[in-house]
Amino acid sequence: MANNKTIPATLIHGDGIGPEIVEATVAVLDALDAPFVWDVQIAGMAAVDKGGDPLPEEALESIRRTKLALKGPLTTPVGSGFRSVNVRLREAFKLFANVRPAVSYVPGGRYEDIDLILVRENTEGLYVGVEHYIPIDDDPHAVAEASGIITRSGCRRIAEFTFEYARKIGRKKVTVVHKANILKALTGLFLETVMDVSKRYKDELIIEERIVDNCAMQLVLDPQQFDVILTTNMFGDILSDEIAGLVGGLGMAPGANIGRDAALFEAVHGSAPDIAGQGIANPTALMLAAAMMLEHVDHGDSAARLRRAIHTALSRPESRTKDLGGGLTTREFTQGLTGLIENGE
Ligand code: NAD
Repeated sequence: MANNKTIPATLIHGDGIGPEIVEATVAVLDALDAPFVWDVQIAGMAAVDKGGDPLPEEALESIRRTKLALKGPLTTPVGSGFRSVNVRLREAFKLFANVRPAVSYVPGGRYEDIDLILVRENTEGLYVGVEHYIPIDDDPHAVAEASGIITRSGCRRIAEFTFEYARKIGRKKVTVVHKANILKALTGLFLETVMDVSKRYKDELIIEERIVDNCAMQLVLDPQQFDVILTTNMFGDILSDEIAGLVGGLGMAPGANIGRDAALFEAVHGSAPDIAGQGIANPTALMLAAAMMLEHVDHGDSAARLRRAIHTALSRPESRTKDLGGGLTTREFTQGLTGLIENGE
Protein backbone atom coordinates (compact mmCIF):
# COMPACT_ATOMS: atom_id res chain seq x y z
CA MET A 1 0.00 0.00 0.00
CA ALA A 2 1.50 3.34 -1.05
CA ASN A 3 1.87 5.57 1.98
CA ASN A 4 0.70 8.76 0.29
CA LYS A 5 -2.68 7.36 -0.76
CA THR A 6 -5.84 8.46 1.02
CA ILE A 7 -7.83 5.74 2.77
CA PRO A 8 -11.63 5.93 3.14
CA ALA A 9 -12.80 5.08 6.66
CA THR A 10 -16.10 5.22 8.51
CA LEU A 11 -16.30 7.53 11.53
CA ILE A 12 -18.98 7.11 14.20
CA HIS A 13 -18.96 9.76 16.94
CA GLY A 14 -21.05 7.69 19.35
CA ASP A 15 -22.89 8.69 22.52
CA GLY A 16 -22.05 10.48 25.77
CA ILE A 17 -18.39 11.55 25.68
CA GLY A 18 -18.07 9.97 22.21
CA PRO A 19 -18.27 13.20 20.18
CA GLU A 20 -15.73 14.92 22.48
CA ILE A 21 -13.09 12.17 22.29
CA VAL A 22 -13.69 11.54 18.58
CA GLU A 23 -13.17 15.24 17.83
CA ALA A 24 -9.94 15.16 19.85
CA THR A 25 -8.73 12.02 18.08
CA VAL A 26 -9.47 13.41 14.62
CA ALA A 27 -7.50 16.54 15.58
CA VAL A 28 -4.37 14.54 16.43
CA LEU A 29 -4.81 12.41 13.27
CA ASP A 30 -4.96 15.66 11.28
CA ALA A 31 -1.76 16.85 12.98
CA LEU A 32 -0.14 13.56 11.89
CA ASP A 33 -1.36 14.07 8.33
CA ALA A 34 -3.07 10.67 8.60
CA PRO A 35 -4.43 9.23 5.34
CA PHE A 36 -8.05 8.75 6.42
CA VAL A 37 -10.92 10.35 4.51
CA TRP A 38 -13.90 10.09 6.84
CA ASP A 39 -17.36 8.91 5.93
CA VAL A 40 -19.25 10.18 8.99
CA GLN A 41 -22.17 7.98 10.08
CA ILE A 42 -24.49 8.00 13.05
CA ALA A 43 -25.35 5.07 15.31
CA GLY A 44 -26.54 4.51 18.88
CA MET A 45 -28.71 7.04 20.71
CA ALA A 46 -28.05 9.68 18.05
CA ALA A 47 -29.72 7.39 15.50
CA VAL A 48 -32.54 6.47 17.90
CA ASP A 49 -33.19 10.17 18.56
CA LYS A 50 -33.71 10.60 14.83
CA GLY A 51 -36.41 7.95 15.10
CA GLY A 52 -34.45 5.13 13.55
CA ASP A 53 -32.55 1.91 14.18
CA PRO A 54 -29.54 2.37 16.53
CA LEU A 55 -27.49 0.70 13.82
CA PRO A 56 -28.80 2.24 10.58
CA GLU A 57 -28.33 0.45 7.28
CA GLU A 58 -26.33 3.47 6.00
CA ALA A 59 -23.72 2.93 8.72
CA LEU A 60 -23.48 -0.79 7.92
CA GLU A 61 -23.23 -0.02 4.22
CA SER A 62 -20.46 2.49 4.88
CA ILE A 63 -18.38 -0.08 6.81
CA ARG A 64 -19.04 -2.68 4.10
CA ARG A 65 -17.56 -0.20 1.64
CA THR A 66 -14.62 1.17 3.65
CA LYS A 67 -13.89 -2.03 5.65
CA LEU A 68 -12.43 0.27 8.28
CA ALA A 69 -14.04 2.19 11.12
CA LEU A 70 -13.17 4.38 14.08
CA LYS A 71 -15.97 4.50 16.59
CA GLY A 72 -16.82 6.39 19.77
CA PRO A 73 -18.57 4.48 22.57
CA LEU A 74 -22.27 3.69 22.17
CA THR A 75 -24.79 3.57 25.00
CA THR A 76 -26.72 0.33 25.48
CA PRO A 77 -29.89 0.60 27.60
CA VAL A 78 -29.78 -1.82 30.57
CA GLY A 79 -32.49 -4.46 30.86
CA SER A 80 -34.92 -3.46 28.16
CA GLY A 81 -34.46 -1.53 24.93
CA PHE A 82 -32.36 -2.30 21.90
CA ARG A 83 -29.60 -4.92 21.62
CA SER A 84 -26.01 -3.75 21.98
CA VAL A 85 -24.91 -2.08 18.75
CA ASN A 86 -21.36 -3.21 19.55
CA VAL A 87 -22.43 -6.86 19.57
CA ARG A 88 -24.43 -6.35 16.35
CA LEU A 89 -21.39 -4.83 14.63
CA ARG A 90 -19.21 -7.74 15.77
CA GLU A 91 -21.75 -10.20 14.37
CA ALA A 92 -22.42 -8.30 11.13
CA PHE A 93 -18.74 -8.15 10.16
CA LYS A 94 -17.60 -11.40 11.86
CA LEU A 95 -15.04 -9.43 13.88
CA PHE A 96 -13.53 -12.57 15.39
CA ALA A 97 -10.38 -11.09 16.94
CA ASN A 98 -10.44 -8.58 19.76
CA VAL A 99 -6.97 -7.10 20.27
CA ARG A 100 -6.36 -5.19 23.48
CA PRO A 101 -2.89 -3.87 24.32
CA ALA A 102 -1.91 -2.70 27.80
CA VAL A 103 1.10 -0.39 27.94
CA SER A 104 2.43 1.71 30.85
CA TYR A 105 2.15 5.36 29.83
CA VAL A 106 1.63 6.96 33.23
CA PRO A 107 4.66 6.67 35.51
CA GLY A 108 4.29 6.10 39.21
CA GLY A 109 1.61 3.42 39.04
CA ARG A 110 1.79 0.05 40.73
CA TYR A 111 3.77 -1.42 37.81
CA GLU A 112 6.27 0.10 35.38
CA ASP A 113 7.21 -1.02 31.89
CA ILE A 114 4.18 -3.12 31.09
CA ASP A 115 3.80 -3.79 27.39
CA LEU A 116 1.51 -6.68 26.65
CA ILE A 117 -1.24 -7.51 24.19
CA LEU A 118 -4.24 -9.71 24.78
CA VAL A 119 -6.03 -11.32 21.84
CA ARG A 120 -9.52 -12.55 22.66
CA GLU A 121 -11.60 -14.80 20.41
CA ASN A 122 -14.67 -12.63 19.94
CA THR A 123 -17.42 -14.87 18.59
CA GLU A 124 -17.47 -18.32 20.25
CA GLY A 125 -17.29 -20.05 23.63
CA LEU A 126 -19.64 -19.50 26.53
CA TYR A 127 -20.79 -16.14 25.12
CA VAL A 128 -22.79 -17.59 22.23
CA GLY A 129 -25.93 -17.13 24.32
CA VAL A 130 -27.18 -20.73 24.16
CA GLU A 131 -28.77 -20.92 27.58
CA HIS A 132 -32.10 -21.55 29.26
CA TYR A 133 -33.85 -22.21 32.57
CA ILE A 134 -35.50 -25.49 33.50
CA PRO A 135 -38.58 -25.04 35.73
CA ILE A 136 -39.19 -27.48 38.56
CA ASP A 137 -42.48 -27.43 40.48
CA ASP A 138 -43.34 -23.77 41.11
CA ASP A 139 -39.81 -22.40 40.53
CA PRO A 140 -39.42 -21.28 36.89
CA HIS A 141 -35.69 -20.72 37.46
CA ALA A 142 -34.93 -23.93 39.34
CA VAL A 143 -32.08 -24.88 37.00
CA ALA A 144 -30.02 -22.82 34.56
CA GLU A 145 -28.15 -24.44 31.72
CA ALA A 146 -25.68 -22.85 29.28
CA SER A 147 -23.71 -24.33 26.40
CA GLY A 148 -20.40 -23.06 25.14
CA ILE A 149 -19.62 -23.61 21.49
CA ILE A 150 -16.09 -23.73 20.15
CA THR A 151 -15.23 -24.84 16.62
CA ARG A 152 -11.94 -26.09 15.25
CA SER A 153 -12.20 -23.62 12.37
CA GLY A 154 -12.80 -20.73 14.80
CA CYS A 155 -9.77 -21.79 16.88
CA ARG A 156 -7.60 -22.13 13.81
CA ARG A 157 -8.69 -18.69 12.57
CA ILE A 158 -7.85 -16.90 15.85
CA ALA A 159 -4.59 -18.85 16.23
CA GLU A 160 -3.38 -17.98 12.73
CA PHE A 161 -4.39 -14.35 13.24
CA THR A 162 -2.54 -14.10 16.57
CA PHE A 163 0.69 -15.79 15.50
CA GLU A 164 0.83 -13.75 12.27
CA TYR A 165 0.10 -10.55 14.20
CA ALA A 166 2.74 -11.33 16.85
CA ARG A 167 5.30 -12.05 14.15
CA LYS A 168 4.42 -8.94 12.15
CA ILE A 169 4.82 -6.57 15.10
CA GLY A 170 8.00 -8.24 16.33
CA ARG A 171 6.69 -9.91 19.47
CA LYS A 172 8.63 -12.83 20.92
CA LYS A 173 6.26 -14.92 23.00
CA VAL A 174 2.60 -16.01 22.90
CA THR A 175 0.95 -17.47 26.01
CA VAL A 176 -2.12 -19.59 25.22
CA VAL A 177 -4.59 -19.36 28.11
CA HIS A 178 -7.25 -22.04 28.69
CA LYS A 179 -8.98 -24.24 31.27
CA ALA A 180 -8.50 -27.57 29.53
CA ASN A 181 -7.92 -29.37 32.83
CA ILE A 182 -11.62 -28.91 33.70
CA LEU A 183 -13.44 -27.86 30.49
CA LYS A 184 -11.70 -30.68 28.67
CA ALA A 185 -13.72 -30.55 25.45
CA LEU A 186 -14.67 -26.87 25.30
CA THR A 187 -11.29 -25.33 25.97
CA GLY A 188 -9.43 -28.58 25.22
CA LEU A 189 -10.33 -28.19 21.55
CA PHE A 190 -9.10 -24.59 21.68
CA LEU A 191 -5.77 -25.63 23.23
CA GLU A 192 -5.31 -28.62 20.91
CA THR A 193 -6.00 -26.61 17.75
CA VAL A 194 -3.99 -23.54 18.74
CA MET A 195 -0.97 -25.64 19.74
CA ASP A 196 -1.24 -27.52 16.46
CA VAL A 197 -1.17 -24.24 14.47
CA SER A 198 1.69 -23.00 16.68
CA LYS A 199 4.04 -25.68 15.29
CA ARG A 200 4.35 -23.60 12.11
CA TYR A 201 5.68 -20.66 14.15
CA LYS A 202 8.01 -22.48 16.55
CA ASP A 203 11.17 -21.07 14.95
CA GLU A 204 10.01 -17.46 15.34
CA LEU A 205 7.95 -17.38 18.51
CA ILE A 206 8.14 -18.88 21.99
CA ILE A 207 4.76 -20.47 22.59
CA GLU A 208 3.66 -21.51 26.06
CA GLU A 209 0.35 -22.42 27.66
CA ARG A 210 -1.15 -21.45 30.99
CA ILE A 211 -4.33 -22.31 32.88
CA VAL A 212 -6.50 -19.22 33.24
CA ASP A 213 -6.58 -19.01 37.05
CA ASN A 214 -2.79 -19.27 37.24
CA CYS A 215 -2.51 -16.65 34.48
CA ALA A 216 -4.74 -14.25 36.42
CA MET A 217 -2.50 -14.58 39.47
CA GLN A 218 0.74 -14.32 37.47
CA LEU A 219 -0.54 -11.12 35.83
CA VAL A 220 -0.70 -9.52 39.27
CA LEU A 221 2.55 -11.01 40.60
CA ASP A 222 4.80 -10.57 37.58
CA PRO A 223 3.05 -9.02 34.55
CA GLN A 224 6.32 -8.30 32.73
CA GLN A 225 6.73 -12.04 31.98
CA PHE A 226 3.88 -11.78 29.42
CA ASP A 227 4.16 -10.56 25.85
CA VAL A 228 1.09 -11.69 23.86
CA ILE A 229 -1.79 -13.61 25.48
CA LEU A 230 -4.21 -15.58 23.31
CA THR A 231 -7.41 -16.82 24.91
CA THR A 232 -11.10 -17.66 24.53
CA ASN A 233 -14.02 -15.26 24.60
CA MET A 234 -14.97 -15.24 28.29
CA PHE A 235 -11.44 -15.57 29.68
CA GLY A 236 -10.39 -12.78 27.32
CA ASP A 237 -13.20 -10.56 28.52
CA ILE A 238 -12.08 -10.92 32.12
CA LEU A 239 -8.30 -10.87 31.62
CA SER A 240 -8.43 -7.84 29.30
CA ASP A 241 -10.00 -5.74 32.05
CA GLU A 242 -7.37 -7.09 34.43
CA ILE A 243 -4.53 -5.96 32.14
CA ALA A 244 -6.18 -2.54 31.71
CA GLY A 245 -6.11 -2.30 35.51
CA LEU A 246 -2.35 -2.92 35.47
CA VAL A 247 -1.75 0.27 33.48
CA GLY A 248 -4.17 2.72 35.04
CA GLY A 249 -7.65 1.54 34.05
CA LEU A 250 -10.04 1.65 31.14
CA GLY A 251 -9.19 5.26 30.24
CA MET A 252 -5.89 3.94 28.87
CA ALA A 253 -7.26 0.87 27.08
CA PRO A 254 -7.74 0.76 23.30
CA GLY A 255 -9.33 -2.11 21.41
CA ALA A 256 -9.41 -3.36 17.85
CA ASN A 257 -12.09 -5.70 16.53
CA ILE A 258 -10.72 -7.45 13.48
CA GLY A 259 -12.39 -9.70 10.91
CA ARG A 260 -11.44 -10.91 7.47
CA ASP A 261 -13.53 -8.19 5.77
CA ALA A 262 -13.51 -5.28 8.20
CA ALA A 263 -11.72 -3.80 11.19
CA LEU A 264 -13.23 -1.54 13.82
CA PHE A 265 -11.19 0.49 16.29
CA GLU A 266 -12.51 1.91 19.56
CA ALA A 267 -11.79 2.66 23.20
CA VAL A 268 -12.60 -0.14 25.62
CA HIS A 269 -14.52 2.22 27.92
CA GLY A 270 -18.15 3.22 27.50
CA SER A 271 -19.96 6.49 26.86
CA ALA A 272 -19.36 7.82 30.42
CA PRO A 273 -22.74 9.59 30.73
CA ASP A 274 -21.71 11.00 34.14
CA ILE A 275 -19.15 13.35 32.55
CA ALA A 276 -20.60 13.76 29.03
CA GLY A 277 -20.66 17.33 27.75
CA GLN A 278 -18.30 18.65 30.45
CA GLY A 279 -15.22 18.68 28.23
CA ILE A 280 -13.13 16.72 30.72
CA ALA A 281 -13.06 13.24 29.15
CA ASN A 282 -9.68 11.62 28.60
CA PRO A 283 -9.35 10.87 24.87
CA THR A 284 -6.19 8.72 25.26
CA ALA A 285 -7.84 5.30 24.83
CA LEU A 286 -9.48 6.31 21.54
CA MET A 287 -6.24 7.94 20.38
CA LEU A 288 -4.38 4.70 21.12
CA ALA A 289 -7.07 2.87 19.13
CA ALA A 290 -6.39 5.29 16.27
CA ALA A 291 -2.69 4.36 16.53
CA MET A 292 -3.69 0.70 16.08
CA MET A 293 -5.77 1.74 13.07
CA LEU A 294 -2.76 3.51 11.55
CA GLU A 295 -0.70 0.34 12.00
CA HIS A 296 -3.49 -1.70 10.44
CA VAL A 297 -3.16 0.35 7.24
CA ASP A 298 0.63 0.19 7.28
CA HIS A 299 1.22 3.68 8.65
CA GLY A 300 3.31 2.44 11.57
CA ASP A 301 5.51 5.56 11.56
CA SER A 302 2.54 7.81 12.29
CA ALA A 303 1.34 5.38 14.97
CA ALA A 304 4.77 5.56 16.63
CA ARG A 305 4.74 9.39 16.51
CA LEU A 306 1.30 9.46 18.12
CA ARG A 307 2.31 7.05 20.89
CA ARG A 308 5.50 9.03 21.52
CA ALA A 309 3.52 12.25 21.93
CA ILE A 310 1.05 10.54 24.31
CA HIS A 311 3.97 9.15 26.28
CA THR A 312 5.57 12.59 26.62
CA ALA A 313 2.30 14.29 27.57
CA LEU A 314 1.34 11.72 30.18
CA SER A 315 4.79 11.66 31.76
CA ARG A 316 4.09 15.12 33.23
CA PRO A 317 1.34 15.23 35.90
CA GLU A 318 0.36 18.78 34.86
CA SER A 319 -0.33 17.73 31.27
CA ARG A 320 -2.90 15.05 32.11
CA THR A 321 -6.68 15.06 32.23
CA LYS A 322 -8.59 14.98 35.51
CA ASP A 323 -9.13 11.18 35.64
CA LEU A 324 -5.31 10.79 35.70
CA GLY A 325 -4.82 13.38 38.42
CA GLY A 326 -4.18 16.36 36.13
CA GLY A 327 -6.26 19.45 35.49
CA LEU A 328 -6.50 19.66 31.70
CA THR A 329 -9.70 19.66 29.72
CA THR A 330 -10.06 17.36 26.72
CA ARG A 331 -9.34 20.29 24.42
CA GLU A 332 -6.26 21.49 26.35
CA PHE A 333 -4.84 17.96 26.46
CA THR A 334 -5.43 17.58 22.72
CA GLN A 335 -3.81 20.95 21.93
CA GLY A 336 -0.77 19.88 23.94
CA LEU A 337 -0.54 16.66 21.94
CA THR A 338 -0.94 18.30 18.55
CA GLY A 339 1.82 20.74 19.59
CA LEU A 340 4.12 17.85 20.50
CA ILE A 341 3.34 16.11 17.20
CA GLU A 342 3.90 19.25 15.14
CA ASN A 343 7.21 19.92 16.93
CA GLY A 344 8.29 16.36 16.16
CA GLU A 345 8.67 15.41 19.83
P1 NAD B 1 -18.03 3.75 31.24
O1 NAD B 1 -16.76 3.12 30.76
O2 NAD B 1 -18.76 4.61 30.28
O3 NAD B 1 -17.71 4.62 32.56
C1 NAD B 1 -17.19 4.06 33.78
C2 NAD B 1 -16.51 5.19 34.59
O4 NAD B 1 -15.29 5.56 33.95
C3 NAD B 1 -17.35 6.46 34.66
O5 NAD B 1 -17.19 7.05 35.94
C4 NAD B 1 -16.75 7.37 33.61
O6 NAD B 1 -16.89 8.75 33.88
C5 NAD B 1 -15.29 6.94 33.60
N1 NAD B 1 -14.71 7.07 32.26
C6 NAD B 1 -14.91 6.23 31.19
N2 NAD B 1 -14.24 6.67 30.14
C7 NAD B 1 -13.60 7.80 30.51
C8 NAD B 1 -12.75 8.71 29.85
N3 NAD B 1 -12.41 8.54 28.57
N4 NAD B 1 -12.29 9.79 30.53
C9 NAD B 1 -12.59 9.97 31.81
N5 NAD B 1 -13.40 9.13 32.52
C10 NAD B 1 -13.89 8.07 31.87
O7 NAD B 1 -18.95 2.56 31.76
P2 NAD B 1 -20.51 2.56 32.11
O8 NAD B 1 -20.88 3.81 32.85
O9 NAD B 1 -20.72 1.23 32.74
O10 NAD B 1 -21.24 2.51 30.70
C11 NAD B 1 -21.89 3.65 30.09
C12 NAD B 1 -22.51 3.21 28.77
O11 NAD B 1 -21.49 2.83 27.84
C13 NAD B 1 -23.45 2.00 28.87
O12 NAD B 1 -24.58 2.24 28.09
C14 NAD B 1 -22.63 0.85 28.29
O13 NAD B 1 -23.45 -0.14 27.72
C15 NAD B 1 -21.84 1.59 27.24
N6 NAD B 1 -20.56 0.90 26.84
C16 NAD B 1 -20.21 1.00 25.53
C17 NAD B 1 -19.02 0.45 25.10
C18 NAD B 1 -18.63 0.58 23.65
O14 NAD B 1 -19.29 1.30 22.90
N7 NAD B 1 -17.59 -0.10 23.19
C19 NAD B 1 -18.16 -0.19 26.01
C20 NAD B 1 -18.55 -0.24 27.36
C21 NAD B 1 -19.74 0.32 27.76
